[in-house]
Amino acid sequence: MGTNRTKVTIWNEFVHERKNEKVRAIYPEGIHRALAEGLAASGRDIATATLDQEEHGLSEARLNDTDVLLWWGHIAHKEVSDVVVERVANRVLDGMGLIVLHSGHCSKIFNKLMGTQSCRLKWREADEKERLWVVDPSHPIAAGLGEYIELEREEMYGEHFDVPPPEELVFLSWFPGGEVFRSGLTYRRGRGKVFYFRPGHETYPTYYHPDILRVLSNAIDWAAPSATARPTYGHSKPLEPLNAGEAKP
Ligand code: ZN
Repeated sequence: MGTNRTKVTIWNEFVHERKNEKVRAIYPEGIHRALAEGLAASGRDIATATLDQEEHGLSEARLNDTDVLLWWGHIAHKEVSDVVVERVANRVLDGMGLIVLHSGHCSKIFNKLMGTQSCRLKWREADEKERLWVVDPSHPIAAGLGEYIELEREEMYGEHFDVPPPEELVFLSWFPGGEVFRSGLTYRRGRGKVFYFRPGHETYPTYYHPDILRVLSNAIDWAAPSATARPTYGHSKPLEPLNAGEAKP
């Protein structure tokens, strides 16, 4: 952390955009490119990585040079190598921020960091409106927003969302079908911060919405590593002399 520029890597499985014309029409160069352009701001270095690259574009060197990793995956979760998942998890424990997007709730990395929960939920693709209420108006991830964000059309996700209770709940989504969903959740794992953010189904232009980009931008700042000391574990020598009162003069 010699400089103040936050180094962001946006990972995308990049499968739907190449197979499905409807998705390609919205994200011609992929969700990762759209996000990279939307999040480009001074003070931020943005790189992208995709599943088909060697080591999924997430080499040791790339991860060591990443402050915050964004993760979008859906139909290819199982194709992500366990070695890479382990590597990402270790970087999070060591301080790298992780922002898990939409269908990433079923990714190996999110499941691993959440523990034993399945991370499953209800879903429906029916062009429904989504209203994300800010339920923690003190939270930096909600800075600059109104009381809620409204998306004209999105996929529905409904409770129960099988995740551990979040440390903070920033957004709660409402859908016309009657469901609600905890759509902005924070966790801490080791020295790293994790944010899950619900919207972003591939057939909707969600990642061009200014409020969505603002949330992600805020989340990058929130999840960036703190310059804290690395804890040490295991057998430990005392910092003070023990049994000092009984010591011989
Ligand atoms: Zn989806």
